[in-house]
Parts: sequence; C-alpha cells; structure tokens
Amino acid sequence: MERQSDSRPARPTDAGPRQPAPAHLADMLDSLSDGFMSIDRSWRFTYLNHTAERFLQRDRQNLLGRDVWQCYPDLVGSGYYRVYQETAATGLPGRHTDYYAPLGTWFEVRSFAHDDGITVLFRDVTREREHAAQLEFEASHDYLTGLANRRKCMEVLSRAVAEAASSGSRHDASEAVLFIDLDHFKEVNDAFGHAIGDELLRGFAKRLTAIPDPAFFAARVGGDEFVLLLRNTTESAAEAFAHALLGELAAPFEVSGRSVSLSASIGIALLREAPGSAETLLNHADAAMYAAKSSGRFQVRSYDRALDRGMRERLALRMELREAFEANQFELHFQPQIALSNGSAIGAEALLRWRHPERGLLTPHAFLGVLLESPYEGALVEWLLNAVCQHIAAWRRQSISVPRVSLNLSARQLLSVGLTDRILDIAREYDVSPAMLDIEVTEDCLVSDIEKATSVLSALKQAGISTSLDDFGSGYSSLGYLVRLPIDTLKIDKSFVRALAESQKASAVIRGIVGLARSLGMKTIAEGVECQRQIAELKDAGCDAIQGYLVSRPLDSKALAEFMLRLS
Ligand code: C2E
Ligand code: CA
Ligand code: CA
Repeated sequence: MERQSDSRPARPTDAGPRQPAPAHLADMLDSLSDGFMSIDRSWRFTYLNHTAERFLQRDRQNLLGRDVWQCYPDLVGSGYYRVYQETAATGLPGRHTDYYAPLGTWFEVRSFAHDDGITVLFRDVTREREHAAQLEFEASHDYLTGLANRRKCMEVLSRAVAEAASSGSRHDASEAVLFIDLDHFKEVNDAFGHAIGDELLRGFAKRLTAIPDPAFFAARVGGDEFVLLLRNTTESAAEAFAHALLGELAAPFEVSGRSVSLSASIGIALLREAPGSAETLLNHADAAMYAAKSSGRFQVRSYDRALDRGMRERLALRMELREAFEANQFELHFQPQIALSNGSAIGAEALLRWRHPERGLLTPHAFLGVLLESPYEGALVEWLLNAVCQHIAAWRRQSISVPRVSLNLSARQLLSVGLTDRILDIAREYDVSPAMLDIEVTEDCLVSDIEKATSVLSALKQAGISTSLDDFGSGYSSLGYLVRLPIDTLKIDKSFVRALAESQKASAVIRGIVGLARSLGMKTIAEGVECQRQIAELKDAGCDAIQGYLVSRPLDSKALAEFMLRLS
C-alpha cells in the first residue's frame, strides 16, 4: 500500500539504531489530527506523522535526520525552543502556545521526554485563536458601531475606579465620564426608518472616535446612549470639551441622500467625586444627562448631589405611576373662569392632582414631567377624558350648570393618533356634548409640527370641540402662525398679568394681544389674576374672561359645584 510505505519513517543516517514504527502504529499516528514528531538527543528529526508534515508544509523525507534548528532557524530562542529544551533537560512534559510567523500559524505544542529524546504533539490552533478573539471582540463590542459595549465599558470604568482608589491621589485632575444621549432619536427612527437610524448611529460613533484627546475610550451602552472617558481633566475642562463636542455633533449627517441633524444631551461625572464603584460613577453621569435633558436638551450638565436627590425622587415617582393609575390616586381639581362683562361662569379648567399615599396632594409641577415622559402618557389622556366627562355627568345630575370644561394636553398627546374620535367616543358614553369640552394646548405644542397640529385642531373644531392656546406670550410668541390656526380662545399667560400692575408696557402688550385675538375671531382669557387692579386693566383692554386666585383657587369637584351654585 502506498500509504503504508509512505508513512514509514526513513531511517536517519546516523541517528543510531531506531525502530521504524510498526506499520499499524505508523497508520495510527498518521491518522492523528494532531501533528506528531520525535526528535533525538542531538535535536534531529526522527519521525514526523502525516499531519506534522502538513502543518510544517515540508515533505518529511526532507526533514528526517536533519537538525531541527537548522531546518527551522527562526525557532531558536523562541517559546517552543525553551519548552523543548526544558523537557529534554528535566524530563518533564511541557506545553506552550505561540504564533509561528514564518508559517502564519498558531501552534499549541506539548512535549514529552523519552530515553532517546523528546516527542512533540502539536495542533494548529489558528482558527480557534481567531474564533476566540472574535468572540472576545463580539462580547465586548457593539456590533453596530464597533465601539466598546456596556460590558466592556463597565470593565474599563471599574479598572479606572480601582486605580484611582489605589493611587489615593487627591489632586485636582480626575478622570471624567461623559454620558451622551441623543435627543429625540426615537422620533428620527420612526420618521426615517431603522436602516437610516442605524446609519446615523454609526456616523455618530465615527465622529465620537474621531475626536482627539483627551477622550481615550468610547462605548455605546444603550440604543442611543454613548459613554466617553476623559483622562486627567477637571469639571470645567470636561464641560468645555462636552460643549465643543455638541458643536461637532450638530453638523448634519448625510445618509441615503438626506441630510439629518442630531442633537444630544451630555451628563458629566468626575471619578474623584464618585468614589466607590463603576456603577455609581455611570449612574451619576446618567443622572446628570437626565437633568441636561429636562433642562431643555442640547445641554451639558455636571453631576452634583442635589441632582441625585431630585433624580431619585423622579425615579421613585416613575415607579409609582402604575400603582397611581391602578389605585385611582389621580384626581381633578377645577378652576372657574369668569366673564369680565357680567361675572358669570363661562367654564372651568380641569387641573390634575395626585393624591400620593405618602407625600400628600401633589400638583403637576411635582410629577407631570415624569408622567409625560413615561409610558403612561397615553393612559393619562384616556383617564382625563373619562374623568372630565364623569364629573360633567355628575354635575348635570345635581342640576349644576358648568358651561364648559377645559383640559390640558401635551404636544404628543394632542398629536396622538385618533384623538378626536376617542374624545367623541368617550363624550358619547357619558352623554356629554362635545361643545362642553375645550382642549388647551401650548404654543410649543404647535410649533413642533405645525402642519399636523393645524389638522388636528381643525378636526376638533369640525367635531364641535373648542380649543384654547395656553400660556400665550410665555413661549415662542410668534404671531405669524397664530393667523393660520383654528383656535377659539387665547389664554394670556400669568407672567403678563402679573406685570400689569407694574408696568405701562405690559398694559400696551395686553391691549395688543386682545386686539389681535379679536381681529382673528378669538376670545381671550387672562390667567393668574390675583388683584382688583389687574381686573380693571384687563377690562379696559377688552379682555373677555379671567381665571385666578382672586376669583377662586382650583377646587375639588364638590367645591366647584358649590361655587357654581353660589354664582347662579
Ligand atoms: P396651566 O395650564 O397654566 O394651569 C394654570 C396653573 O396656574 C395651575 O397650576 C393653577 O393652579 C395656577 N394658577 C391658577 N390661578 C393662579 C393665580 O392666580 N396665581 C398663580 N400664581 N397661579 C395660579 P397647576 O394646577 O399647578 O398646573 C400647572 C400646570 O400643569 C398647568 O398649567 C398645566 O400646564 C399642567 N397641567 C395641569 N393639569 C394637566 C393635565 O391634566 N394634563 C396636562 N397635560 N397638563 C396639565
Ligand atoms: Ca392650562
Ligand atoms: Ca396656562
């Protein structure tokens, strides 16, 4: 058999008496998937199996009897060399894995001593190594952007925390963590699709890694959340860096033939000020980012303790929202609105309250931000519509006339799909006329998507539901778009009303607003009226109605009923 003769090792020329492996043993050795070779005490090859031949890419006939180190001079001094020498000298087995550059291969070798020299078993572990490296890369990197992932980020942060603790240095410079969160990325994703969203994330990551010192580590730790680590910095230097970064990131991205702009909010935490753990450090940066976001996005904030307390409260509230809905802890208070002409009630504004089991009755400023950013934003609309209609039906049963009830909606609530139909459905359920309902929205609500807002307002009008523009004068105050909006009532913001008693200019502005509203066919209600002086000015300006503490504070349902009875 050819294979048999082929596999029989040639007798080395002067290697002393050596038994060629018996045919069946040679067969067996040749069938091994491991390389197998014997080397005598003078470092000459005495046997190589078929696999060894293949691994070494040399014909074994050319190697047998020759000096190992002459055949493979690059091995001299290498790790393999040391292991073979050691095994030969001590008689103990050796093991070593190394890269052998001339063959471009990783070999794992095991060497065993015997009387005549050593035997070496070796495997090509190149694939395994590459696979392991790949796995390691995948386990520590984000597939989309190639940046480090959350796991890797925690590893690096932990190391930084440990190093800072062991060095115990108290000087000013510190490492800083920047927590970067894209603003409105969900909307971008919804508008352009996930493919473009992914491309934007990749582009964003590329910009992050392109920035030079002092950032030395970048990771993507969540959908649109990134972390940068800065070395040897101070709070003010880190803030300056973050501001510059926001500038860089603001330049539009070109994706699939479109130009898309992104903005981000950045929170900063200094390692020096968050001793303890990597989690604490990241949480601090996250909390600071959250604060940056709530103070209007496209902002930078550094962490401080007060912020942490505020954050903890917000988080706690967020956790309690479900319970609040389930246990019916929300309620409505109503603030009457009075016509300036004859003092009669024109309606009431429904204002949300949370009867919190531990913290008592909460007004919206304590929880509305959290609620509107939570998954319960939509549930609130349902609850609100039902509650308002229920109260109207109850007053009707008591023969109490409340001409109209206004309810407040956020931008997203206003633009949510099917709003008008939902209002009509619920109103019908309680046999409430749509004309008894008024929807209050703020200016920022409208400018975010003026086309869509206009069409929703028109639909509401069509359905017989009236609309009010809330806090007019406190926001964008662009009079231009006002002309095009189908709005019934303009609510003059309390900041104007407050200024009335103090400045001539405020009177002039209010006259202007009332005049404009009238020419557009809108009514006006002044908010936050607290004194007689303001009433006189408002009457003078031609304002239609008022709402404020002077007339009444917001009242619970029963108190409002009594108030209305007294008026009638
Ligand atoms: P807003 O719509 O401007 O409501 C008027 C706020 O001014 C109410 O505060 C009211 O209590 C207060 N106020 C009334 N009269 C006076 C006064 O004479 N002087 C002063 N200084 N303040 C007065 P509240 O109830 O705390 O509501 C705060 C904001 O929360 C509301 O401002 C509204 O934007 C929002 N909000 C209230 N209820 C809801 C709701 O059901 N849904 C939504 N989306 N937002 C709501
Ligand atoms: Ca309002
Ligand atoms: Ca208002």
